[in-house]
Amino acid sequence: MHAVRLAYFLLRMIFSAGRGNQMRRKSCAERTINVLQTGVSGSTDRIFPRLVCLCIVLLLIGWSASFAAHDDLFDLKEVTDGVYIAQAQRAHILNSNAAVIMLDDGVLVVDTHSKPSAARALIQQIKAITDKPVRYVVDTHFHYDHFQGNGAYREAFPGVQVIASEPTRHGIVHRGIPRIKAELAGGEGFGRYIRSIEQSRLALAETSDPGEQERLKREIALEEGYLDELRNIGNVLPTISFERSLVLRRGDREVQILFLGRGHTDGDTLVFLPKERILCTGDLVHAWGPYMPDSHPYDWIQTLENVEKLDFHRIISGHGDVLQGKRQVTLWKHYLQDLMDQVGELYARGATVDQIRQDIDLSKHFSLIDRLEPGVDAHIRKAYREISWEP
Ligand SMILES: [Zn+2]
Ligand SMILES: [Zn+2]
Repeated sequence: MHAVRLAYFLLRMIFSAGRGNQMRRKSCAERTINVLQTGVSGSTDRIFPRLVCLCIVLLLIGWSASFAAHDDLFDLKEVTDGVYIAQAQRAHILNSNAAVIMLDDGVLVVDTHSKPSAARALIQQIKAITDKPVRYVVDTHFHYDHFQGNGAYREAFPGVQVIASEPTRHGIVHRGIPRIKAELAGGEGFGRYIRSIEQSRLALAETSDPGEQERLKREIALEEGYLDELRNIGNVLPTISFERSLVLRRGDREVQILFLGRGHTDGDTLVFLPKERILCTGDLVHAWGPYMPDSHPYDWIQTLENVEKLDFHRIISGHGDVLQGKRQVTLWKHYLQDLMDQVGELYARGATVDQIRQDIDLSKHFSLIDRLEPGVDAHIRKAYREISWEP
């Protein structure tokens, strides 16, 4: 509401300026409200300023509403009747999007972000739009930013079932949970936040810039809070697993939970609504460039081919905004094919990974796929490991 008050104040200032010693007239905002209430307007020379005034007020109210939305971790937007994207806002510790799907007797949520507090925040937003309980959670894959909030759903909805493909359940047990433990132990790779907190403390001791001190303190608090959540993460294990597909029919809604092959991980799960023609893809395809460390690149190309055969017109993916049509699926497929082909050809001519990094040309994809370029070097190394016989 601050912005609305600011709008009112600004309008009074703008429209009273230049009046000199004129008699005090009603402010523009007051006059606009009068016009809205009575439907009676003054002479034509007064209509234009009133319209301008009304537009400014509406713009500022919209501006204030968008600020309110940014206080939330997620932008909850209806994609079609009863199907929502909970689009993750930019955060210091990455959160995935979720899809929120209304069923006749409950709610199904796809993916649970990087921590229980994020899942709890979304649960509050879900409670604001429905009284129905969350009955199902689907984990699309075993990465930290997609399943670590599972426990929050268990606490809030004790009857909830957590669904994952068999390989994703295996991935949570044998890689997801060990990675959480490594994070807490400060281990190689996944001990990143313990190392980051140590570095921030050293930097804090050295800097005298108040802005920098503030930033470092905020970062330390966020990272310590995250580690605390990991220490008390609760039970994150899926309760229902499936091999190829699992279909829920609830009232008018049919929800197909599908495994169409390996790709971003070995267990990527899709949630497909055939009637609404909406597909939830996790990170098998999302709005930015692919992330490849746990991927199976050749299978991925084939799996994307399988995805293209489904009849959908919108994608709710793991990261970024809703995707229209199949374009992103095709762009990722072409990129992965080109990456594997070029690395394969250069390797076959005897090139080392460093020579390949210099000679390869993937630049035609950069303008087509958002945020692709920063990841390309890691993609080349992954492709090289996949093709060569090197560890
Ligand atoms: Zn992700
Ligand atoms: Zn992922």
